[in-house]
Amino acid sequence: MKVKVDRDLCTGCELCVDTCPDLFEIVDDLAKEKVDEVPEDLEDCAKEAAEGCPVEAISIEE
Ligand code: SF4
Repeated sequence: MKVKVDRDLCTGCELCVDTCPDLFEIVDDLAKEKVDEVPEDLEDCAKEAAEGCPVEAISIEE
């Protein structure tokens, strides 16, 4: 599974960082994915972050 933040949509609310600190970080006030390939044990967290993002900026590729 891959995860990607669309920084053109992201508002920097930090929700995804709170949800998955191992997968997301704030860089220049916007979220950025820390990994390209999501480790298996963090897949549920990645999905939760994508569903929770208020502007749907997080996309997941299976
Ligand atoms: S939850 Fe969405 S809008 Fe908020 S920081 Fe993460 S990617 Fe950006």
